[in-house]
Amino acid sequence: MLPINDLSRHNGPLDAELRAAIDRVLRRGYYILGPENEAFENEFAAYLGVAGTVAVGNGTDALELALRALEIGPGDQVVTVANAGMYASTAIRAVGAEPRYVDIEARHMLIDASQLERVATPQTKAVIVTHLYGRMADVAAVLTFARRRGIKVIEDCAQAHGASRDGRRAGAWGDLAAFSFYPTKNLGALGDGGAVVSNDAGLLARLRSLRQYGWTSKYHVGMVGGRNSRLDELQAAVLRVKLPYLDGWNERRRQVVRQYRSGLADLGWQLPAEPGDDDVAHLCVMRCAERDAVRAALGAAGIASDIHYPVPDHRQAGVATPPQALPETEQAASTVLTLPCFPELEAPEVAVVIAALQQVAQRDQD
Ligand SMILES: *Cc1c(COP(=O)(O)O)cnc(C)c1O
Repeated sequence: MLPINDLSRHNGPLDAELRAAIDRVLRRGYYILGPENEAFENEFAAYLGVAGTVAVGNGTDALELALRALEIGPGDQVVTVANAGMYASTAIRAVGAEPRYVDIEARHMLIDASQLERVATPQTKAVIVTHLYGRMADVAAVLTFARRRGIKVIEDCAQAHGASRDGRRAGAWGDLAAFSFYPTKNLGALGDGGAVVSNDAGLLARLRSLRQYGWTSKYHVGMVGGRNSRLDELQAAVLRVKLPYLDGWNERRRQVVRQYRSGLADLGWQLPAEPGDDDVAHLCVMRCAERDAVRAALGAAGIASDIHYPVPDHRQAGVATPPQALPETEQAASTVLTLPCFPELEAPEVAVVIAALQQVAQRDQD
């Protein structure tokens, strides 16, 4: 089976470097919030061009702690999209606030900033803007809206490590930004990991306290809402090995998407737009009305595919959400199809996927 992603092919070539980093941690005998964490935080902040990074346990915690740092809680609303896998909604609910959903635009399936005015209420305290599939959303438009309203912007960069627009990286635009280092992300650890970044020293200080029981100093709790969510030294050491490769990997992902675009043009399907600097091609998501049939044909040809994401947040069975009209979001959920895309995917393999899809399109025409 041609996989959608292959982490052994991704991490395999780094075997010696990763083992050296892991050995270094093992021998040092310092396993939580030590020198590797501090070095990674500094290196990641320098890479992004932000004042600071606070590494945490995972990307969902990063979103939740970002909300807590802004003192958002019960009675507050946070606006976000409903097509991004429920992570932001989970974080919003975890702090006791209520998600309000804004629809997406059809071309990139990113937040439709022109609808924010209509969706926001006096209770709205923040917008979580998700750079979905690796492409940066119109964060400048979201910021214009938010600044006028006096509300905060959190970027969800879990799929957009390294993307940049006008020379400014994803994560360097909002008041705060959340990253995940889940193994399949563009920058992935060998386990869970996450980070919040910001240019605001006060928010960074609050986050350092929140990730460790609310401590201001050891055993002294200076604020409520604290918990334990830290990045361990092994994962920090792994991420330090991998960060220098990120830009190269992102360029390889873009090349994969470009190959799909040229091979699948004119078949009547919506392909991802040409990826520039502001798109790190985390996932290659195309859209087709007959999605389930196409997916079955790919499977029969030995090609894995996936759906990101099948159920919009406001339709999740386990969560009561007031009914909301989100036509583009619903349309996306029933038409999106994710094709294999990872840096090590070779051109001949992409060609195999393209040939299989061309055959499906041909069959549909006959
Ligand atoms: C993966 C992901 C998250 C959550 O990250 P975890 O580390 O799995 O908690 C949040 N937002 C988006 C858009 C993601 O893709």
